[in-house]
Amino acid sequence: MAQYGFLGLGIMGAPMAANLIKAGHEVTVWNRTPDKCDSLVALGATRAINAAAVVAAADITFAMLADPAAAERVAFGPTGVIEGMTPGKGYVDMSTVDENTSRDIATGVQAAGGRFLEAPVSGTKKPAEDGTLIILTAGDESLYQEAAPLLDLMGKKRLYLGTVGRAARMKLVVNMIMGGMMTSFCEGLALGDKGGLSRQDLLDVLAAGALANPMFAVKGALIGQGDFTPAFPLKHMQKDLRLALELGDILGQSLPSAAASGKTFKRALDDGLGDEDFCAVVKIVES
Ligand code: NAP
Repeated sequence: MAQYGFLGLGIMGAPMAANLIKAGHEVTVWNRTPDKCDSLVALGATRAINAAAVVAAADITFAMLADPAAAERVAFGPTGVIEGMTPGKGYVDMSTVDENTSRDIATGVQAAGGRFLEAPVSGTKKPAEDGTLIILTAGDESLYQEAAPLLDLMGKKRLYLGTVGRAARMKLVVNMIMGGMMTSFCEGLALGDKGGLSRQDLLDVLAAGALANPMFAVKGALIGQGDFTPAFPLKHMQKDLRLALELGDILGQSLPSAAASGKTFKRALDDGLGDEDFCAVVKIVES
């Protein structure tokens, strides 16, 4: 029976790994903060002492880590992925990172004889729990085919976009649009408040027309309740805008409105809102 591994059991990684285990797969898990493995072990996962041990035990290892620094550290650090890598094994990094980080990790994995697929996801905590993420992949096509049944347990749609870096690009473009939508939405709420409009009326008007989308509906309700429990932590949205702006620099595309959103999210991060949901940016807009 094929063996799988999962590294990084945060808001997204834990439910994604759980979906593999619930489908009957044998999964070895590791997380920097070890007690986050407990709920997965209770479901039937095997706990490993470090990332290298996961990779050594698994045919294909998935990772869902915070940012480029975390992805690099888990790949290349002591007792990391590369130490456990041997020819033929697969490493599927689902973290949202920039393309240079992804290519670096691909090179390290390939140098050890392994196969690499980048596979960032669109969708948040609930789709991760429901197995309805949108999975954007690029890299080794044989690994993509082999991992496809597992990806289908985590997501409702998957795309193979070609060489390493293309999925990272797609993910950053999508999240840049989302970050801009969120700051515009929050500015609309704040302007409506100042204009004496009911927030519920505004949400109803948005929901009835061409601007209807689940993000406005769900986050609008949560903002109304003052509930900023993180589904998508603000620090990660700020990171994604930063990486999208860097991509704009690399490709020579000016992104003035994303730059403005990025500044608002940076202020929110500096104000200590990084671990709240990204809709907490409304607090900065209103301040
Ligand atoms: P999270 O809850 O903050 O989890 C981050 C994970 O990275 C944790 O397992 C954390 O370990 C680990 N980590 C951080 N720094 C590390 C380091 N230096 N060494 C080893 N492990 C490290 O984040 P998340 O929401 O699950 O997001 C994970 C990734 O998915 C991010 O790239 C994010 O941008 C992306 N993403 C998130 C969402 C969402 O809605 N949440 C949606 C799509 C994509 P500890 O537990 O020890 O801190």
